[in-house]
Amino acid sequence: MIVYEDLARLNAPFFEDFKKAFNLTLESGWYVLGEQVRSFEAEFASFLGVQFCSGVASGLDAMVIALKALDLPPDSEVIVPANTYIATILAVLQAGLRPVLVEPELVTYNIDPSKIEAHITKKTKAILVVHLYGKACEMDPILSLCEKHGLRLLEDCAQSHGATYKGRLTGSFGDFGCFSFYPTKNLGALGDAGAIVCNSEELDQKVRVLRNYGSARKYYNDVVGLNSRLDEIQASFLRVKLKRLNDINKHKKALAEIYLSRLSDEFIKPCVRDGFSDVFHIFNIRHPRRDELKAFLHANGVGAEIHYPVAPHRQNAMRAVLNGEYPISELIHDTTLSLPVSYFHSFDEVNQVCDIANRFASS
Ligand SMILES: *Cc1c(COP(=O)(O)O)cnc(C)c1O
Repeated sequence: MIVYEDLARLNAPFFEDFKKAFNLTLESGWYVLGEQVRSFEAEFASFLGVQFCSGVASGLDAMVIALKALDLPPDSEVIVPANTYIATILAVLQAGLRPVLVEPELVTYNIDPSKIEAHITKKTKAILVVHLYGKACEMDPILSLCEKHGLRLLEDCAQSHGATYKGRLTGSFGDFGCFSFYPTKNLGALGDAGAIVCNSEELDQKVRVLRNYGSARKYYNDVVGLNSRLDEIQASFLRVKLKRLNDINKHKKALAEIYLSRLSDEFIKPCVRDGFSDVFHIFNIRHPRRDELKAFLHANGVGAEIHYPVAPHRQNAMRAVLNGEYPISELIHDTTLSLPVSYFHSFDEVNQVCDIANRFASS
């Protein structure tokens, strides 16, 4: 069986270093917001070429806190892609703001820059882009729109650690870059973790206060905050893994190259464009008989997943919140399939997946 993901195999190369890091933190007696978190924050900011980084408890919290730190008027509208993972939309709602969905481009699966302006109203205050599947959004037109309309820009980088657009790393374009280090992400912890990066000391300070009960000084609370702190243990694991993030991305890119060159053209493959360096958090293909393809792969010993089976506006939880028609988003949700592309997969395994998938294509 070529499994879709296996977190033990993914992390096996780091076990020895994780154990050392764990022992160090265990014996230090300091478990929340300490030296490990400070060091990881500095190292991750340096990796991204940004000035400030604050560790938080998850990717969802990173976006909630970043949005709160902007102090937007209640019920302001925030533009988000229609086909994102639900967390992006939940973050807008939890920050007391209103998500406005914009369709993605069918070739990139990212928000369609040419469709954003029609959704900008007097209440629009921010655009929250998502660099989906490890591909950066087309940032130039989005940056121009933000400038033209005086909008804040946030980036959901939960799937794009290390991805670039015109040589610049995702997370470094907006007022805030929001990261998740959920175990399956390209930079994954051994539990929940997240971070918020920015280039404004004032905004970073707000984030630090918000993540810690709204308190800058112990037991003095200036704003209504959250408890969303990054654990020392997770930070120590992330420091180990950050050193290898470029290797992880490089391997995933090499696996993607095999898929791109060997998979039948009957499958719609991720687009390759100048100026974009993707990190393939997910390697997705599209096919009109997606469910059959998934079953065929499984019957032949290949695990595949769907990211995601249900469009956000079709979720029960969103019935009272989101309405409107998003046919492009739905088409993606109905036809997309993710193939194995983890750090532990071998070239040989990916070649086998190509052979099996191509058999489906010719059948
Ligand atoms: C994983 C993910 C999140 C949420 O991250 P958590 O750490 O699980 O809260 C948000 N947005 C996208 C696009 C994701 O893939």
